[in-house]
Amino acid sequence: MTFSPIPRRASRQVRIGQFLVGSEHPVLVQSMTNTDTADLEATVKQVYELWQAGSEIVRITVNSPEAAAQVAGIRSRLDALGCDVPLVGDFHFNGDRLLRDYPDCAVALAKYRINPGNVGKGSKRDEKFGFMIEQAVQHNKPVRIGVNWGSLDQAMVVKLMDENAQLAQPLPVDAVMREALIRSALDSAEQAIGWGMRADQIILSCKVSHVQDLISVYRELGKRCDYALHLGLTEAGMGSKGIVASTAALAVLLQEGIGDTIRVSLTPEPGGDRTREVIVAQEILQTMGLRSFTPLVTACPGCGRTTSTVFQELAQDIQSFLRTQMPIWRLQYPGVEDLKVAVMGCVVNGPGESKLADIGISLPGTGEVPVCPVYVDGEKTVTLKGERVAEEFQAIVEEYVKTRYTEGGAKRRETTTIQLKQI
Ligand code: SF4
Repeated sequence: MTFSPIPRRASRQVRIGQFLVGSEHPVLVQSMTNTDTADLEATVKQVYELWQAGSEIVRITVNSPEAAAQVAGIRSRLDALGCDVPLVGDFHFNGDRLLRDYPDCAVALAKYRINPGNVGKGSKRDEKFGFMIEQAVQHNKPVRIGVNWGSLDQAMVVKLMDENAQLAQPLPVDAVMREALIRSALDSAEQAIGWGMRADQIILSCKVSHVQDLISVYRELGKRCDYALHLGLTEAGMGSKGIVASTAALAVLLQEGIGDTIRVSLTPEPGGDRTREVIVAQEILQTMGLRSFTPLVTACPGCGRTTSTVFQELAQDIQSFLRTQMPIWRLQYPGVEDLKVAVMGCVVNGPGESKLADIGISLPGTGEVPVCPVYVDGEKTVTLKGERVAEEFQAIVEEYVKTRYTEGGAKRRETTTIQLKQI
């Protein structure tokens, strides 16, 4: 696991299952299922897929007695599959009853997510919230106190609006709303501590759906407390909009050392793959140099010098090949996640970028001789040509990984080039 080169905000360290988060611990990738938790088979399958894709924590909805009744079974099935990913229960409205009526669920979950805006109103709110905290204390579980713009505690909003109206120079409404989010999270955490929760069992989040609001809220939250923070832009949206908005917000905060766990909340395309949110979260952390998960392919965008889609296809095939191998390679070849591969479209930047990568291939552009020089550790080792360039390059990458990342692999790096010359 690669550790962050960026100084991190000092915070309490919280244990979630087998992981510690907070302060200098690596920023963890979290995801959430969209299956009905009452459907054990579908939920186990999706949690497993998210975990295989690299999600380190998975949140599941616990919204009904039928869902709560399945949680312990989901945990057992995952354990039997060798999947030890911590499960977080997402509770709204009836979490107190579900935790009371399904103690196996309370035990099986590694963390409870509680939204203080959706617990209840008036005195009922404190009673229900207090019960959930008691359950967490009793079972020694951490909680995420997760406030959302869309379900903000209305009593808090009214109180702050009234206070604001008394000021000589009242703040704009959106500033008061941001303050209400922060206060709701901080006051709820203080209440939880009053009911016996330790500060190192609390993670806070204040999710909003606009980039500048999120940055502003988390900067302030980061200054005003030392709780670990879960970061995510809620309702980020679909496709490139969701990815760009999440990346823009998270990158700014992560660069400032803010954020201990992250989730990218993408709306999947119909029939789309839920694991996309995991891959995007990993790529944010990896491209920022905070962590490494999967070898990434450097590919040029292509231009008028490329007249076919060969190099795009090769870049895509190699990236998906590397990603597919990672669940096994991660265990067999420690450090392989830092491998750098380049696939370039022509002689202009091809040889240069390929030499900078651990392993790179420069494809021929328009009018160039139809050959593909391969560079390993900065040296040209072989020239590929013909119909089987993609398969042969993949074999070279695979051989490189096996040779370089086996036990003592770093020492064997010099010999890799020689062996590859013989392929
Ligand atoms: S490397 Fe060649 S093909 Fe790729 S963008 Fe640059 S000039 Fe175009």
